[in-house]
Amino acid sequence: MNARTALVTGANRGLGLAACQRLLEAGFQVFLGSRDQARGEEAADLLRRNVDGALVSAVALDVTDEASVSSTAEHLEGLIPHLDALVNNAGISGPRVWPSEQPTDAMKQTFEVNFFGPHRVTRSLLPLLRAAPAARIVNVSTSSGSLGNVADPQWPYLANASRTLGYSASKAALNMETIQLAYELRDTKMKVNAICPGYTATAFNAFKGTRDPLVSAQIIVTYATLEDDGPTGGFFDEQGAIRW
Ligand code: NAP
Repeated sequence: MNARTALVTGANRGLGLAACQRLLEAGFQVFLGSRDQARGEEAADLLRRNVDGALVSAVALDVTDEASVSSTAEHLEGLIPHLDALVNNAGISGPRVWPSEQPTDAMKQTFEVNFFGPHRVTRSLLPLLRAAPAARIVNVSTSSGSLGNVADPQWPYLANASRTLGYSASKAALNMETIQLAYELRDTKMKVNAICPGYTATAFNAFKGTRDPLVSAQIIVTYATLEDDGPTGGFFDEQGAIRW
């Protein structure tokens, strides 16, 4: 039987790299998206050393670049009959300053990567995803993209999240896409969900996160391999549903 196939964006390091490892361990053939081809190749080599028989290839993919996204879609269409899982993981934090101090250009760039990026990638890969028996789309979001959380004075991470307007708003927009795309695809076997991996030690937070990427990546695999009776259009962390 052919292996299920997955593409992970922003996978040359951090959670994306860990998600690739977990997907390979689950038996997927993995396309490792990296905006820098050499960094992607290095990451793929590392995975080949870590996972016996790993079927992994690096793909040059900058989610902010329409031509790069189109050429990835064409490349994959030439290689595989369908894509079983798309993990929209690439993301940037933007400046960590109070809302009134957020530079507009930096916020636009954050939206470009965190919201328009996944939208562009999903749109381009939808034909390959539709060709799969029951494709899964996993949007890597964050609990600070929850309006319910940041409107709650008791939420423990409020002070930090209130200094990430560009980031939080871009992930709230990604959550909105998750809901609307799931609705559009409601009569198919596809499922689209947003997940929060938890506070994880990666370059994203100068490795201050408290969780191991390989542990946090497990939720990505869970939502990339949901059974047909699993949820769609939801937002989850390890504990279950996150309020919007
Ligand atoms: P990371 O180590 O900084 O990795 C981010 C990845 O995104 C890198 O591979 C980076 O590539 C890539 N990337 C950035 N801009 C890109 C672009 N234009 N096109 C393609 N790839 C691009 O951070 P991480 O912690 O693994 O973050 C992964 C995801 O998890 C993000 O969406 C983040 O919002 C989310 N998240 C993280 C945490 C956490 O605690 N770490 C918590 C909640 C959610 P380069 O190496 O080329 O820059």
